Amino acid sequence: MSKKNRPRGYPADPTPALPVPVVDTHTHLDSDASGWLPGPDKPLIHDDADPWKWDANNAPTVDAQIARAAAAGVDRMVQVGCDLPSARWTADIVTQHPALVGAVALHPNEAPMHAGTHDVGPDGLEPAARDHYAVPLDEAIAEIAALAASSSRIRAIGETGMDLFRCGPQGAHTQRESFRAHIAIAKELDLALQIHDRDAHAEVLDILQRDGAPARTVFHCFSGDVEMARLCASKGWFLSFAGPITYPANQHLRDALVETPLDLLLAETDAPYLAPAPYRGQPNAPYVVAHTVRAMAEIRLAPLEDLCQALSRNSERAFGQW
Ligand SMILES: [Zn+2]
Repeated sequence: MSKKNRPRGYPADPTPALPVPVVDTHTHLDSDASGWLPGPDKPLIHDDADPWKWDANNAPTVDAQIARAAAAGVDRMVQVGCDLPSARWTADIVTQHPALVGAVALHPNEAPMHAGTHDVGPDGLEPAARDHYAVPLDEAIAEIAALAASSSRIRAIGETGMDLFRCGPQGAHTQRESFRAHIAIAKELDLALQIHDRDAHAEVLDILQRDGAPARTVFHCFSGDVEMARLCASKGWFLSFAGPITYPANQHLRDALVETPLDLLLAETDAPYLAPAPYRGQPNAPYVVAHTVRAMAEIRLAPLEDLCQALSRNSERAFGQW
């Protein structure tokens, strides 16, 4: 389908609901497909008459997200706040909804913005006029650590890691130092580590092995191949799979998914991004992980119920009970 004709609304509800409820282990409820929503620069707006209407000015409420997910057999989720305003929002929202726990960090693309070492790449990533970039990197990381320690509902440091997709050498240096600081916080607070690894497999693995990975380490939206999946599994690290396993070009991800031991598997949306086929390019939301979980079962030739049970169990092993 051409971009022009692509449907713009949210994906269809997965029916029937999953036989055993699962967790969406990585979602951004504070964003929509048009970008950042809450905060002084762009307040979150809800259309009560049609919460799922998709346009630049509307986003479903957190209550609407949780209810639609529950109806699809997705009873809990890990809300990820990976810039300062979003991390602050996350630390607050997870105390208000029993279905949520949180992860906080500075995303690898955020860290250079605080350090003044960003490199503008093909996507034109610019340090927009966002006040929080005036906070120096060390202070920003200290605030992340404080937010992580502020509530027992924060269960992970993430997403942190490296993203060399649009990053020059200066930015990469900052990303590396920021990643190492986040690893140290996860260990100190005994939280899980949620890793963002884009075009940076070797660097991420190197840092993890040099510094020592936290007891519970998760590769968010795993993007490696079979060999990397085997290496991660040998270390006992969790691999979390998202919508891209359904994209035709990603046979290497399907191979990695088949290779991953059942007790190290997780599922996620990374909503509002990365909706699975046939909804690719449409906005994503936690309920949509049910589509991805069905695809995972088909790819692994595994009974759906067994997979769902494992995903639920593994999510609690990674992030604790809630
Ligand atoms: Zn994410």
